[in-house]
Amino acid sequence: MSSKKRRRVVLTRLSEPFLQVTDLTYQYAPAKSFSLGKQSFTLEKGKLLVILGPSGSGKSTLLQLIAGLLRPNEGEIIMGGKPIHHLPPEKRNLSMIFQKTYLLPFLTVGANVEIGLKLKGMPSHKRRVRSEEILNQVGLTGFYQRPLSSLSGGQEQRVALARSLVIEPQLLLLDEPFSQLDPLLRRQMGSWISDIKRMWEIPMIMVTHDREEALALGDQFLILRDGAEQQSGTLDNIYYEPANRWTADFMGIDNVLDGIKKGTRVTTFLGDLKVHPHCIRVPDGPVRIVLRSEWLQLDFTSSIKATIEGCSFRGEYTEVKANVNGESVVIKQLGLSNYERGMETGVRLATSNVWCLPKEVM
Ligand code: ADP
Ligand code: MG
Repeated sequence: MSSKKRRRVVLTRLSEPFLQVTDLTYQYAPAKSFSLGKQSFTLEKGKLLVILGPSGSGKSTLLQLIAGLLRPNEGEIIMGGKPIHHLPPEKRNLSMIFQKTYLLPFLTVGANVEIGLKLKGMPSHKRRVRSEEILNQVGLTGFYQRPLSSLSGGQEQRVALARSLVIEPQLLLLDEPFSQLDPLLRRQMGSWISDIKRMWEIPMIMVTHDREEALALGDQFLILRDGAEQQSGTLDNIYYEPANRWTADFMGIDNVLDGIKKGTRVTTFLGDLKVHPHCIRVPDGPVRIVLRSEWLQLDFTSSIKATIEGCSFRGEYTEVKANVNGESVVIKQLGLSNYERGMETGVRLATSNVWCLPKEVM
């Protein structure tokens, strides 16, 4: 092969995504039970894809198809340039972590971590060196000899993480691994996952129904509902640019309000506003405008008048309800604020354009 040709091959390989999932479908037997509609996405090395959706939307089903625990009806999975959809789980070079750790309680931490290496036939002294290295990385230095039964829930999850990583998988799959842990521990585990991703550059796919966890950890997102993709994209896309009314609600956008669109402008209760460039293709006429509550700010000097309807402290921020030209809106104020119901003030819009959705047909 000429050097030019070889360089081209190398360049193509570099630009290929690490994981490419195309038109994956699955139907549980019998025929009328849940089916997962065509799913396609790509994942780059060192990135974390979050599969987000309510309970029963098909998140675990999709993850199990990638892991090889279920066989797809159709579609393909290419990992590192090679098809893997026909391979059994143990030949896919990936690890999976579940909510339940599946650790062996009668063994030590070290023995649990080493299981995968033992199966590969690695001699015991090497296994120990490797396992202790990994235990250090997950913050469990000196835990090698400890009985598993002496560990807390969070420590057990870290042992499960160490056991998955010790075999050096090319892909890490996580199915709601922290949903049993208390909120503080959950956050800590989230930051472990971010550290591991950064240090190892290992691509990960994580399933969760927890929006906050998803937004904190994900680089890419896939939102599922009833086995169908609702939206996929970056953090910006799913946070600010909902694909439809359902995603807007699911992503916790408080203000989805009426407007009348004409070309690049939309008439709303806040006056005449500019339409987001990506929404100009939305047909003219009645639309929904989507305003995250942080785009609205209380400002008594503003010419747009508002009357306070109520407020409640949510820990870290105060949720204020205000009436603006007959529309009830939600505004979030950082910290603890107290506004009297009926108080007259004003609001300011902190964005230069607004996201619009076609008004849903009832
Ligand atoms: P999620 O992880 O998003 O909560 P799942 O992928 O576990 O959802 O399940 C999606 C749907 O498939 C659910 O309605 C569930 O009841 C159904 N389901 C899961 N496992 C089976 C099975 N073995 N046989 C039939 N239906 C199943
Ligand atoms: Mg699940």
